[in-house]
Amino acid sequence: MTTLVIAEHDNKELKGATLNALAAATKIGADIDLLVMGVDCATVVTAAQNVSGVSRVLVADHGCYGEQLAENVALLVAELGVDYRHVLAPATTHGKNVMPRVAALLDVSQISEIIDVLSVDTFKRPIYAGNAIATVQSDDRVKVITVRCSSFDAVAQADSVSASVVVLPQQHDAGLSVFVSASLAVSDRPELTDAKVVISGGRGLQNGDNFSLIYAVADKLNAAVGASRAAVDAGFVPNDMQVGQTGKIVSPDLYIAVGISGAIQHLAGMKDSKVIVAINNDEEAPIFQIADYGLVADLFTALPELESVL
Ligand code: FAD
Repeated sequence: MTTLVIAEHDNKELKGATLNALAAATKIGADIDLLVMGVDCATVVTAAQNVSGVSRVLVADHGCYGEQLAENVALLVAELGVDYRHVLAPATTHGKNVMPRVAALLDVSQISEIIDVLSVDTFKRPIYAGNAIATVQSDDRVKVITVRCSSFDAVAQADSVSASVVVLPQQHDAGLSVFVSASLAVSDRPELTDAKVVISGGRGLQNGDNFSLIYAVADKLNAAVGASRAAVDAGFVPNDMQVGQTGKIVSPDLYIAVGISGAIQHLAGMKDSKVIVAINNDEEAPIFQIADYGLVADLFTALPELESVL
């Protein structure tokens, strides 16, 4: 019994989310093959070989996988998947794009965003925006699974190469999509989903310019910056900063919510944070019910004070 894990990467670096998905695969208890699909991705392959617990790195290094278009890579994953009992990917934007296609091609049900592995066929996953946890048992021959990264501690990367490499000849071009361009936000700050500290702003910030108060504190704490959906919908900040049910799921050591009321859809994205701090001028705000530390204050006074003492 072997498990196939899909590597997340940008043809240069193996992304941290892969290490969390591998931790879930390790809990299943089988040998692990890690699949790297891309083009000119030799550095990723070397990094993949160094990951603890990986037996083999399967490499499909062809132009048709260069941008990892879901239509193309899903064909390869499904073709390989028939020989595995489990196929796992991180529940990132990429994983969520690819894995439903894989499940459909294999004619099985996807098991989405698992947060725990109870046995080879039984998993825990959140439902109702994280307000209930379902225990799901699957009889499918191949279990196609996405993994909530914040629920599994990343496996280690070793210094020495241990996994062997298998080069795959298959070149699948579905002919359904063409990569045109990517416009990526560039930031010196830590990635929101990887950061140890996250500070998020909500509608209480009133406009995008006032987010400079959040950035100033974030710079002092080497924190990533997030936002509520209300702040995103109002155009204060871009939507890749949204934390919550329909945004990113984070579980940093410290989460600071500023001018955020604490709607359940926001809590769904951050309530697993180890320490939660809330700054809000309404002492009745629901965010205080889950906060470890609450400051009832005007954020326009509290944030500059916080920045000055850091
Ligand atoms: P508000 O609820 O308006 O709260 C603003 C807060 O700022 C208030 O508590 C107020 O007291 C405080 N405040 C105002 N001025 C100050 C000041 N000067 N100093 C200090 N505090 C101040 N939301 C998400 O965040 N993420 C999601 O992924 C998400 N997904 C959703 C999915 C669905 C299907 C639906 C229906 C909703 C979703 N929402 C999501 C929206 C969610 O329900 C809330 O509307 C949203 O989280 C509210 O954002 P907010 O807390 O910034 O705004």
